Amino acid sequence: MNYLSTRDSALRVSAAQAVKLGLSRDGGLLTPVTVPQIDRAFLERMVPLRYQDRAAAVMALYLTDYTEAELLTFAENAYGPEKFDTLAVAPVHTLDETTHCLELWHGPTSAFKDMALQMLPQLLSAALKKTGEDKTVCILVATSGDTGKAAMEGFADVPQTRIMVFYPRNGVSQVQETQMVTQEGANVGVCAVEGNFDDAQSGVKRIFSDESIRSALAERGFFLSSANSINWGRILPQGFYYISAYCDLVRDGKLPMGEQVNFCVPTGNFGDILAAYYAKRMGLPVGKLICASNCNDVLTDFLHTGVYDRNRPFHNTMSPSMDILISSNLERLLFDLSGENDAEVRGYMESLAKDGKYEVSDAIKAALQEQYWGGFCGEADTAATIGRYYRDYGYLIDTHTAVAANVMEQYRTATGDKTVTVFASTASPYKFCDSVLAAIGVTPAGEGLELLDQLHTVTGTPVPRRLAALKGKARRFDLACEKAGMDRVVLDFLK
Ligand SMILES: *Cc1c(COP(=O)(O)O)cnc(C)c1O
Repeated sequence: MNYLSTRDSALRVSAAQAVKLGLSRDGGLLTPVTVPQIDRAFLERMVPLRYQDRAAAVMALYLTDYTEAELLTFAENAYGPEKFDTLAVAPVHTLDETTHCLELWHGPTSAFKDMALQMLPQLLSAALKKTGEDKTVCILVATSGDTGKAAMEGFADVPQTRIMVFYPRNGVSQVQETQMVTQEGANVGVCAVEGNFDDAQSGVKRIFSDESIRSALAERGFFLSSANSINWGRILPQGFYYISAYCDLVRDGKLPMGEQVNFCVPTGNFGDILAAYYAKRMGLPVGKLICASNCNDVLTDFLHTGVYDRNRPFHNTMSPSMDILISSNLERLLFDLSGENDAEVRGYMESLAKDGKYEVSDAIKAALQEQYWGGFCGEADTAATIGRYYRDYGYLIDTHTAVAANVMEQYRTATGDKTVTVFASTASPYKFCDSVLAAIGVTPAGEGLELLDQLHTVTGTPVPRRLAALKGKARRFDLACEKAGMDRVVLDFLK
């Protein structure tokens, strides 16, 4: 299976090259040439299997230059009991007959980013070998809070790799910041940027496309790649869990094989919900994809009007990992919905870069509305939803998951759709203790890590062991820069 660019559909690179490069040189996103199909027999084979086996079987369809044995080994390493606190890896928690929650935060950093970032470093290491690469890869990451930690955790001390993470100085929770600045590993670096996530992400994209930086780094024996969801190696491992959740529901007698489910996903960069779209395109019986935003509601408006307009205030919310106004992965969706029309996609992306907005064709707008429903949830409703799920179901959810739960309810009220619906739970409530405590009516006593015990005492839920272990860790990083200074930081890091 080869990969093309959303801005040049004639380009062809192998899977290993796509994972290694992260982003196409033309600024486009690398995307599989065709979407492999799964049928009922495939799903029936998956039903009795473990998560690791399901993951390897799905990956094998896309990564044809990796062997099946290789992929199974990677899946065992990524999702084993040393890394995940449940053998189910991504368990489905049932709330009622038609409502289920897919828990994606049982990995080492307590956010769904682990699902892909425990896999990507292995795919990338193998890609370096397969392509005969002798330079060291430097992963540049812009993070809205969770990707940075999960990427460092995945890449720490992986040979032939370095990793530099940029996070918005005032845009992440205290637990998230502590997780990042205490990260161990000789090859990692972390820097706070004066700005928001979009500033950090634009800075990283600018460094990627700067030929003078690239050649300076090449002389020192480095090249750049990405662990953000612009890298196909991030999207692919996120597709498994939708297929896996479907198989779990069938296995547990909660869904007849072949019947459709809706997925509702709390969305920022549009990576997670794009993976759900690919699962659907592969043939998984999926109805609507419900795209949930916080009050950074650029996607809600886009899905309703066909106009993407980032010219609006940026809000820092209690669900910081979704505080994003430029959702990079939309580009892959537009490419697919346009019938792989690279010129059309280039046009949209040029006007996004120039005017901060674009309007899609009527054909794309109709296709979007057929596949997706968009809604958003403000701060007060997010808190109220956490409180309500805790009271009504005895189920504690984090701020991002609450946005999804709330928008799922809005969708049901608006449409009357009774289809079985799975909403994604993307982070442990322990990453956002202060907001979660307040939402269940408890005054937070202290800040940051001090609140882990309080949330545990109040709710009786277990503290994720890696978060509890942060308490004894020393701060290793204190670096900060202005938006314009990110290049310097990278050049100094790769001396
Ligand atoms: C990253 C993240 C999201 C948003 O996912 P995207 O793939 O960027 O849309 C939602 N919730 C949490 C907790 C996250 O870390």
